Amino acid sequence: MMQKSFCCAEGCERLVELPTLFCSKHWRLVPTIQRRRIWAASVGGRDSPEYLAAKAAAVEVIAQAEGRRQPNPFPDFQTEVVG
Ligand SMILES: [Zn+2]
Repeated sequence: MMQKSFCCAEGCERLVELPTLFCSKHWRLVPTIQRRRIWAASVGGRDSPEYLAAKAAAVEVIAQAEGRRQPNPFPDFQTEVVG
């Protein structure tokens, strides 16, 4: 039986089937580079720091795309390298 969970995007209450993180609407807002990061990190386990960081970064980029954040002068893929 498929386990269901809420979409990880802020304020979204759509149900998705695990291990899907986001509903289709929000997944479309995640840039390809970050989708790849999530896929790559999922190999190491969905509780791994890499996976959780990739997921958190995607949540942020979606929040920004939806205007839930102040505009970030630096695109995520540049600022992430620093951390
Ligand atoms: Zn959603």
